[in-house]
Amino acid sequence: MLGLAKGLAYTLKNLSKKKVTYDYPNESIEMPDRFRGIQKFYPEKCIVCNQCVNICPTNCISLTGKKHPDPSKRGKIIETYDINFEICILCDLCTEVCPTEAIVMTNNFELAEYSRDNLFKDLEWLNENDENIREENTV
Ligand code: SF4
Ligand code: SF4
Repeated sequence: MLGLAKGLAYTLKNLSKKKVTYDYPNESIEMPDRFRGIQKFYPEKCIVCNQCVNICPTNCISLTGKKHPDPSKRGKIIETYDINFEICILCDLCTEVCPTEAIVMTNNFELAEYSRDNLFKDLEWLNENDENIREENTV
């Protein structure tokens, strides 16, 4: 009986305290400024320099480019850009090395899938991943 009363007293004492848990996933969790989340890709900014591919420690980026359709312009434009999130370790190196900020980090981290095949994200998917873009990228 004494134990029950002690338990109730403890519960009542803590009822008014600030919650330390989140009602996830109904309530989104605010991530810190330098959180390394799933990348956003801007195809129009990419100059197909391959620096992201070369620095990636897990070889999870693959890309192809093509000649610029405007003959008056030099260089290439991006054709395909894929990241394999089965092996991406979200290390941030690809975004740090990119000279045009064509690839940047977001604060998004939800990537659960029923099939591993769905963890290959292509240019369109990465382009549309445009929410919660990390502010740190733009300063
Ligand atoms: S975050 Fe790291 S592991 Fe992932 S694609 Fe970029 S360089 Fe590769
Ligand atoms: S480093 Fe940036 S500009 Fe170069 S290929 Fe990668 S995403 Fe494109």
